Amino acid sequence: MKTQYQPKTGQKCGCKRGVQRDNCPACEGTGMRIDFAAIRARTQSPHAALIASMDSGEYDTEAMQIDDRNRNFSPDSAEDYRHENIVIASLQNGQFTQAKKQCASFGLEYAEMRQSAGLNPFPG
Ligand SMILES: [Zn+2]
Repeated sequence: MKTQYQPKTGQKCGCKRGVQRDNCPACEGTGMRIDFAAIRARTQSPHAALIASMDSGEYDTEAMQIDDRNRNFSPDSAEDYRHENIVIASLQNGQFTQAKKQCASFGLEYAEMRQSAGLNPFPG
């Protein structure tokens, strides 16, 4: 996968123009060395340690990691990833099928979650 953001080190690459440059992994054909360390630092999860310390039995740490890598996670929003809160959010958005699936995968009672979301626990 190619990253869209390619920080340059500001150093010219040692490769020769032409075929060698086109195939050069150090500059990816740009002629300027790409700062791969900066790319790695950027694609790492900034809150990795915090997320690793969270209980994956209670929180959807996988979703946290994905959002963190995409810079969409903040420690303030950690509670949003609590299994119960994920299901309640789905219910409040009217995503009942999704909420049922989430209950099944998180080991939660669907009726209880409906009640927590302020809905009739036994519809129909
Ligand atoms: Zn090069």
